[in-house]
Amino acid sequence: MGSERVKLDEPLSSHTTLRIGGPADLFYEAHNSGELIKAVRLARSFEVPVTIIGGGSNVLVSDVGVRGLVVKNCGGEMEIRERSLFGFKKHKALPIDPRWVGSEEGTMRYDFSDLDYDESEYPDVEVAIDSGVSLQAAMFNLFEHDITGLQWYARIPGTVGGAVFNNIHGGNHVFSEIVKDVVLLTKHGDVIKIPAKSMRFEYDTSRIHQSGEIVLEVVLNLKKGNVEKARAVADEWRRRKSSQPFNSAGCVFKNISEKDREILGYPTTATGYIVEHILNMTGYKVGGAMISPNHHNFIVNTGGATAKDYLAVRDEIVKRAKETIGMELEDEIIRMGEFNY
Ligand SMILES: Cc1cc2nc3c(=O)[nH]c(=O)nc-3n(C[C@H](O)[C@H](O)[C@H](O)COP(=O)(O)OP(=O)(O)OC[C@H]3O[C@@H](n4cnc5c(N)ncnc54)[C@H](O)[C@@H]3O)c2cc1C
Repeated sequence: MGSERVKLDEPLSSHTTLRIGGPADLFYEAHNSGELIKAVRLARSFEVPVTIIGGGSNVLVSDVGVRGLVVKNCGGEMEIRERSLFGFKKHKALPIDPRWVGSEEGTMRYDFSDLDYDESEYPDVEVAIDSGVSLQAAMFNLFEHDITGLQWYARIPGTVGGAVFNNIHGGNHVFSEIVKDVVLLTKHGDVIKIPAKSMRFEYDTSRIHQSGEIVLEVVLNLKKGNVEKARAVADEWRRRKSSQPFNSAGCVFKNISEKDREILGYPTTATGYIVEHILNMTGYKVGGAMISPNHHNFIVNTGGATAKDYLAVRDEIVKRAKETIGMELEDEIIRMGEFNY
């Protein structure tokens, strides 16, 4: 792996959007699927536990950190498979920094339905992407090649592997709509390719939550579409979502179901609505962790927050939701490492 590339006691706060997290015993950045496979197999051969982190945009890492090896999956390649052309074109994915550009005009109600349109009339293009590629880099890079279909996920940080793991959602779309096949590293170290239908994709989940498999590559069904329109939609999507703070781990809780919304008589399924208007928790803060005033389903690190602070805020929301409306809120963030508190 290269001894100079393996770090000891690396603070994981440097590798999460929330800027929270204690040290990893061993830390290694894999720059492509080959390096990822090698690192995982080697660690397992020494019975060292392995944890994969992508963009660190959906995780709460424990204050005491993670034991064993943490592999940060970052980088890789894309391969565009256009049936009408001879052979494959290979393109290196460009890394981009998905920094949050603030906007006064961001809306609290994320209604994207007016931006939706049907792309089914356009020709199909298959694109194979290494799991460590940044989703935003992939989207911009594919626009350069007139390929559309990722615009619904504009401004979602993280890697393509993280998008598959969680079956991310953008407006009315879920990532599984465009997944054709997934290449996985199994717990036994085998590389397998499975069709999307075997991934057990549902809202915010996939089979990997249980199986512990590692996503190496995903083959997407995209379109040779109207790239100008897709760019405009991505820009507008980013503008509307600009009130979602990047010093967070994304939404803390899943949204409620349509059935529960009807029973409760709320105007939206957004959990942020409940936190703001029903539980009246605007500005609730423990240590450096605070409910974001811009989006009430986000807990932000205002500076120096610990995982313990974050969980104290999260637990208080859960408690009040249970007491006030009898609702069991479901976590969307993933905990990583040891939590004994
Ligand atoms: C500002 C902001 C906005 C967001 N908006 C949205 C949104 O609109 N919709 C949405 O769905 N999510 C959203 N998120 C959440 C998050 O960005 C996504 O879930 C993202 O796909 C996570 O990818 P990641 O690479 O950062 O994963 P990480 O946070 O690094 O990891 C998350 C989990 O995935 C696992 N994992 C990562 N890569 C792999 C792999 N290759 N193989 C196996 N397991 C893997 C990790 O072990 C971990 O358990 C948002 C987050 C932020 C901070």
